[in-house]
Amino acid sequence: MTPKPTPKPEATEPKANVTAKTAETPNVTEVTPKVAKTPKRVTEAELLARYPHVVAGSLRFDEARNKQVVRAKLTCGHEHDLATSDLFQVKACPLCVKAVRKDQRKARKAARKAFLATLTK
Ligand SMILES: [Zn+2]
Repeated sequence: MTPKPTPKPEATEPKANVTAKTAETPNVTEVTPKVAKTPKRVTEAELLARYPHVVAGSLRFDEARNKQVVRAKLTCGHEHDLATSDLFQVKACPLCVKAVRKDQRKARKAARKAFLATLTK
């Protein structure tokens, strides 16, 4: 006996009217600004405003040192190229500072020699 194929009633289930909520979370990845390795470049106007001894028109970029360099009139009367980042601290040029130190050393040496001379007498 072959069983009668009972026709399966088509499951015509009405598809649930689900409005597929595609919860699209906006792909917002906060971009954290990378800390710039290169120092902030300044304009000559900014420099002149802050450092009156800067020689106008001398600002340039030193590729080798990765620094901005500018000519400045120093307290010793000389003009020297300085990194803009050093402007605030450099008052006299290295040569003059060296000369002053040399003189001080010479004076100290002479004083010591004179002191030693008093001992051997
Ligand atoms: Zn000097």
